[in-house]
Amino acid sequence: MTSIPPEVAAKLKAAAGPSGWSEEPREIAPHLHEWRGRWHGKSALLLKPDATEQIARIAAVCNETRTPLVPQGGNTGLVGGQIPENGEVLLSLERMNRIRRVSPEQNLIIAEAGVVLANAQNAAAEAGRLFPLSLASEGSCTIGGNISTNAGGVHVLRYGMMRDLVLGLEVVLADGSILNLMKGLRKDNTGYDLKQLFIGAEGTLGIVTAAMLRLSPQPVSYVTVLAALDDLAAAHPILNGLQQATGGQVSAFEIMQRRALELVLGEIPGTANPLAGDYQWALLIETGNSAALDCNEAVEGVLSQAIESGAVRDAIFAKTLRERESLWRLRESIPEAQRKQGLSIANDISVPLARMAEFVEIAEAAVRSVLPQAVCITFGHAGDGNLHFAILAAGHNEALASARGQIESAVQDCVWRLDGSISAEHGIGLARRDSLRRQKSGQEIAAMAALKRALDPNNILNPGKLLPAGLP
Ligand SMILES: Cc1cc2nc3c(=O)[nH]c(=O)nc-3n(C[C@H](O)[C@H](O)[C@H](O)COP(=O)(O)OP(=O)(O)OC[C@H]3O[C@@H](n4cnc5c(N)ncnc54)[C@H](O)[C@@H]3O)c2cc1C
Repeated sequence: MTSIPPEVAAKLKAAAGPSGWSEEPREIAPHLHEWRGRWHGKSALLLKPDATEQIARIAAVCNETRTPLVPQGGNTGLVGGQIPENGEVLLSLERMNRIRRVSPEQNLIIAEAGVVLANAQNAAAEAGRLFPLSLASEGSCTIGGNISTNAGGVHVLRYGMMRDLVLGLEVVLADGSILNLMKGLRKDNTGYDLKQLFIGAEGTLGIVTAAMLRLSPQPVSYVTVLAALDDLAAAHPILNGLQQATGGQVSAFEIMQRRALELVLGEIPGTANPLAGDYQWALLIETGNSAALDCNEAVEGVLSQAIESGAVRDAIFAKTLRERESLWRLRESIPEAQRKQGLSIANDISVPLARMAEFVEIAEAAVRSVLPQAVCITFGHAGDGNLHFAILAAGHNEALASARGQIESAVQDCVWRLDGSISAEHGIGLARRDSLRRQKSGQEIAAMAALKRALDPNNILNPGKLLPAGLP
């Protein structure tokens, strides 16, 4: 457990400025607990600077005094990376919340790390542009956290992950130097693309203080459909048909197992399911229309054929903005409904698109062989082969808690059998670091540890996260 000597704390407070720190337990407490209550940290000192130069001074003090530091944005991360589990100094980026520039002409926005994602989206919309990253946590998560986890969400299919949206970065390194990578050039082949190192690094290689982000044209309207399926294997051919018919305009292709929908309907007031009859899966499909291209007919055509062939049982098109919002509410409320059920074991996996159904089949069987009372719930970003595979066991929470290790490794074995990834978008943090050695080759792990040693030789930046125990 880290204890912070008073003389070090005094230097850190001076670096953060008079309003830039707190030792008040009530102010620190909300920063110490992970959203679902899986990880609880400790920290005696919360730093909340509001300028890059202050962060640079903080890093320099930490480096000189070998004081570990945990960066935190909106504290919505789902793998524990933002939690100071060993009493580290907590560095909140919440006051780094200015939008420095929005340029619709250049299709870019410059936002500080603590800007809440929804605020960045709104600033882009006010300028007539789209910032397409979209997650159910967008009202709380921050641009710095999105970059550090390489966040995904519901629009990856059309616009890419956060990595694809970053044109430039400003980063404070462990020694307190400021790396300005904000040229924002679309093309620049002058050696290593350093900004890529910090995207998805979970705060272990540098502290992101600001970013230049790519904007896209705003759709003028949407085609939003909820389609009922019996077989998850039908989803992939439907996606291919839609992409062909719309010229690649599908912006969301989300899957919900019927059990996931039922969880939402039971736990979230004001939700209603427009699908009737028998089905096992619901697909939430959306395309964005431009003034020149309305995808409605193309989507209707593909879904009519799928209904004729029996692949789709029913399809409900949203006719108003309100109907669109209620369809999205069903999908976006799943994590909250899951949380309300109490203990659950979350998996955020990806497999090749054509193998999603096979994954669900073998993973459900593997889980039941460990704990017969377990109920598996699958939902996620089917257009990216990214499934959230959650395990609940209402009334058997103790058994579920003690089987966690066995269940997680049974699920991971299924992922590796299908050549998948044990973390599609949430990251590694504390949750998956001990499994990383099986996900990656020895050479990959060695190269990652070498990078960590080169950029953070005193291991002050988020130590114990992401890399397997014992490294760097
Ligand atoms: C309801 C819900 C839905 C979600 N849906 C999705 C989803 O669809 N897709 C998805 O990808 N994720 C999803 N998430 C996970 C989470 O919202 C994302 O990982 C998000 O990007 C985290 O941002 P944050 O600001 O909350 O970061 P935090 O949780 O504060 O931190 C996350 C990690 O980034 C590091 N970090 C934070 N800020 C910085 C910085 N400025 N510099 C360096 N390191 C930093 C932290 O140390 C930590 O390791 C969801 C979470 C919830 C609660």
